[in-house]
Amino acid sequence: MRPESLFALFAPVESLPGIGPRLAKLLEKASGPHVVDLLWHLPREVLDRGFSPAVADAPPGRIVTLTVTVERHFPPPDKRRPYRVLCRDDSGPLTLTFFHADKRYLERELPVGSERMVSGRVEFYRSEAQMAHPDYILPPEQRAQMPAIEPVYPLTAGLTPKVLQKAVHGALDRTRELPEWQDPDYHTRQGWPAWRDALLAVHAPSSEAAIGPLAPARQRLAYDELLANQLALAITRAKAKRLPGRVIDGDKSLRAMALRELPFAMTGSQIQALKEIGADMAADSRMLRLLQGDVGSGKTVVALFAMLNAVECGGQAALLAPTEILARQHYDSIAPLADACGVRVALLTGRDKGKPRKALLADLAAGEIKILIGTHAIFQEDVDFQDLMMAVIDEQHRFGVHQRLALAGKGKGVDMLVMTATPIPRTLMLSAYGDLDVSRLTDKPPGRKPVDTRLAANTRLDEVASAIGRAIQGDAKVYWVCPLVEESEVLDLVAATERFEDLKQRFGEGRVELVHGKMKAAEKDAAMARFVEGDAGILVATTVIEVGVNVPEATVMVIEHAERFGLAQLHQLRGRIGRGDKASTCLLVYGPNPTETAQRRLKTMRETEDGFVIAEEDLRLRGAGELLGTRQSGLPDFRLADIAVHGELMAAARDDARLIIERDPDLSSPRGKALRTLLYLFERDVAVATLRSG
Ligand code: ADP
Ligand code: MG
Repeated sequence: MRPESLFALFAPVESLPGIGPRLAKLLEKASGPHVVDLLWHLPREVLDRGFSPAVADAPPGRIVTLTVTVERHFPPPDKRRPYRVLCRDDSGPLTLTFFHADKRYLERELPVGSERMVSGRVEFYRSEAQMAHPDYILPPEQRAQMPAIEPVYPLTAGLTPKVLQKAVHGALDRTRELPEWQDPDYHTRQGWPAWRDALLAVHAPSSEAAIGPLAPARQRLAYDELLANQLALAITRAKAKRLPGRVIDGDKSLRAMALRELPFAMTGSQIQALKEIGADMAADSRMLRLLQGDVGSGKTVVALFAMLNAVECGGQAALLAPTEILARQHYDSIAPLADACGVRVALLTGRDKGKPRKALLADLAAGEIKILIGTHAIFQEDVDFQDLMMAVIDEQHRFGVHQRLALAGKGKGVDMLVMTATPIPRTLMLSAYGDLDVSRLTDKPPGRKPVDTRLAANTRLDEVASAIGRAIQGDAKVYWVCPLVEESEVLDLVAATERFEDLKQRFGEGRVELVHGKMKAAEKDAAMARFVEGDAGILVATTVIEVGVNVPEATVMVIEHAERFGLAQLHQLRGRIGRGDKASTCLLVYGPNPTETAQRRLKTMRETEDGFVIAEEDLRLRGAGELLGTRQSGLPDFRLADIAVHGELMAAARDDARLIIERDPDLSSPRGKALRTLLYLFERDVAVATLRSG
C-alpha cells in the first residue's frame, strides 16, 4: 500500500534513537505517534543565542550567551540547595546554579580557570547575576555546536526542549528526497525549495521571519498539505460523480399544489437554490450539493420542494436531523403542507419503539410513507425504503461521511442535499468539501426587521436596566444573557443568579425568569413557558439559549460582557431575536478595557447581520482552528497550513487538483505517481484506495 520511500516516516516515534517508551508517550502527546508527525511539528518561535552582552549588561529574563572564566565551585551543604559555580567576566561576577547536580559532570564541564561560553537566561538576585541550568556550556573553540538561532517547539509537560529537538533531528535524518509532485512551472514561479530542503529549512530557521507563515519553505509545505487535501477531495468527488445517479425530474404537480398552500412567496435565493437543485436532480449523475443559509433563512421549504420532486417521480425522500428536537421541528413545519398535497410524511426517532414503529416501517417499505423525517434512528438496519431517491441531511457537521454513505446505501443512486446554518467562509468550505456544489440562501424572508445593535460600556448598566424596564412596561420580551466564564461553569451560574436576583428586586417577583445549563429539563421548560406565556418579561440566561430556543415575540436582547464572546456565538445569540415582524434591539454591554480584537468583534456585530460577513471576519480575527467550533465539526485540522493566512494557496491547490484529475484521473503519469506519495504522506490513504478500486 504505502510506498516504501515513506516506511521510515510512518514508523512509531519509539524507533528513533534515544527514544524509549516513556519519551515516546510524551512525543506522541506533543506531536503525534509517527516519525512524520515530528516533521510537521513546527517551531513556535526562535531564540537568538547570538546576543552576547557583558555579564553586568545582561537584561534579566532574556536569553544571552556569555563568555566567562570559571573561578570556584561551591558544592551544596545539603541536597535541597543548589550547586553553585562562580564565574566572571571583566564587568562582574556570574553564578551558575544547578539543582540535583552531578558533581563530577560539572567539574569536567566547568574546570576552574577555564574560559566557557554559557547560554541561558540571566536573573538578578540582590543585584547578583545568576544563571540557572544553562542550556549550553561550551569552550569557545566549540561554539559552532551551538546554533546562533534556535527553534523553540511547542512542548508538553515532562518533555524538555533538548529531547524534542533531538527527536526532530532524528526524524529529519529519516527523510530523503522525494520526486517532485508540485507542478514544475508553479513551483518555479513561486521560488519554493524542494520538499526535503523545505523541511530542513523550517526546522533550522535563520531568523524570526523564517518560521513565519510567509517564509518560502513554510509556504511550500503548507501548499503540499493543501494539495493533498484538495486532491483527496477531488478524487472522492470524481468517484461519486461516476456513480450512476437517477434522472429525477417530476411533473411539478405536487410542487404546484404546495406552492399554493404556502402562506408566503419564496425569496429570490430560495427560487435560485431550487433551480440549482432541480438541475442536479434531473442529471443522471448523483447530486451532492450543500445548501447554506443562516438560521431562519428558510432552508426547510427548499428541502421540502426538492423532496416533493422525488415523490412526483414515484420515489421516496428522507430528511435527517442531528437531534430529536430539530427532527420534530422539521416535521411540524413540513407535515401540514405535505398533508395538503396528499403526501404522507412520518417522523422516526429513537423514541419510536414496538408496534407503532413496526407499523411505520411496514408502511415505509410498502412505499406508503413518501417522506421520512428523523434522527440517527433512520440508519438502523431494519429501516427499509421502497425506493429512496433523495436524502436531505441537516447540519452536516454532526454527521460523518460514513453516515452519509449509510444513508445512500438505503437507496440506489440517492441524490444528496446537505443543509447547514453555519456560515462557513469560502476557504474553510474548500478545505472541508473541496469543490462541492453550493447553493446559498442570502436573502432573509421578507418582513423581517433588521436588529438594531448598540454598544454600551457596563458603567452604564443602570441606564440599560432602566431602558429594559420601559421595554417590559410596553410588553416586550427580553433575553438577558450573562457572561461566559470559560474556566468555570460555576462562576457563570453565580453571575446569572446574581443578575436574576438583582433584576427581580428592581422589577418585581414574577417579572423575571432564569434558565441555565444546570437546570433539569422540566424546570427549564417551566421557566421558558412562564416567559413565553406568562407575566415574565425578562429571561435571564447563560448561553443555553444559544441552542434551540424559539420565541418569536422576543424583541430585545442584552448581552453582558459581550467582549468575552466569540463572533460566531454573538451572531447565534442575536439570531434569537428579530424573528417576528416587530423591530428588535440588541444591546452589547462590554466590560472595562476590551482588547483590540474584542472591539473589532463588537464593531462587526454593530455593522452587519450577514452571517457570511461575520464568519469571514471571525476567520480573520481568530484563525481557522477555533473558528465556529471547527474542532468538533469535522472540518480538517491543518498542521502546516493556516487557512486564515494561506487562503490563496488553498484556492490554487483547488485549481491544481481539478486539473490533475481532469488530465490524469488515475494518477498514472510520473507526476501522478509522485502525487500518490503526497497523498500517503498526508495520510489520505483512503483517496488512493478509491483510485485503485474505482
Ligand atoms: P432555517 O431552516 O433556514 O433556519 P426555516 O426553514 O425554519 O429556516 O424558516 C424559518 C421561518 O421562515 C419558518 O417559519 C418559515 O415558514 C418561514 N419562511 C421560509 N421561507 C419564507 C419566505 N420566503 N417568506 C416568508 N417566510 C418564510
Ligand atoms: Mg431549520
